[in-house]
Amino acid sequence: MFILVAALVVLLASAALWNAFVRPPARASAGATPDTAPVQTVVRTAGSAIDSARDTAHAAAAPTPPPTVVPPVGAGGPSYIVLLARSEIRRRIRASAGSTYLNDNLTQNADSILHRWDGRVSTPVRVFFPPTTVANFQPSFLDAVRSAFQRWQEVVPVRFNLDADSSSAEVRVQWRIQFEGERSGQTDVQWDEDGRLTGGVVTLATFDAKGQPFAPDDVRVLALHEIGHLIGLDHSPDPGDIMYAQPKVRELSPRDVRTAALLYDLAPGPLRVGG
Ligand SMILES: [Zn+2]
Repeated sequence: MFILVAALVVLLASAALWNAFVRPPARASAGATPDTAPVQTVVRTAGSAIDSARDTAHAAAAPTPPPTVVPPVGAGGPSYIVLLARSEIRRRIRASAGSTYLNDNLTQNADSILHRWDGRVSTPVRVFFPPTTVANFQPSFLDAVRSAFQRWQEVVPVRFNLDADSSSAEVRVQWRIQFEGERSGQTDVQWDEDGRLTGGVVTLATFDAKGQPFAPDDVRVLALHEIGHLIGLDHSPDPGDIMYAQPKVRELSPRDVRTAALLYDLAPGPLRVGG
């Protein structure tokens, strides 16, 4: 009996090792995975008085097909140990309900994927600010955006290199006069099949929905919200948080900080535990 148990343990351990180290690179197998499209892109929008309650992010998430039972990548899908780890992550997220809004995102989408930058302290995320001639753009807007990046850097273990050039950049911050509808910002992010963010585009408006020019501090608030998306956060249902779809506050709330900290304390990737 003991030998049987020992053999089982060895088997499980090898399966985990296989999963951790021998699995083919994400990109290569992305097309084969059922959970998501090969290139995952999400569009989010924001703005104080700015974006519509349901922005494109949710629109994009809505049509997700029901979970299907699919043959796993490579040797038969997530191992038992991987599923166990996901289960533990879900438990931690549930336990944080009220104190963070990760759980709200989780309950909205049973097939959710935690996505965040990974290991980007020693190799900062390269951010490029293309020159712009958009009306009402002011150089002080750049300082406002830089300070918003700085604020998030104090919260999560990600560093941003804000002086990257266009050829090496992973993230672009660009401007436009206005968006259609109520929004004033939009963030598109991409991630690999392991949930690690790989790039993004942040677009900020220089005029609000009513045609009023933004001041630098409005841009800072807008950027705080959009960079929240850029680091992997979804919307909060609470108007007291900067990640509320239509931000009412001008600084990160303690809940914003806790939510981001929890996200970066958990392994990125799919959270699906059932078939
Ligand atoms: Zn948003």
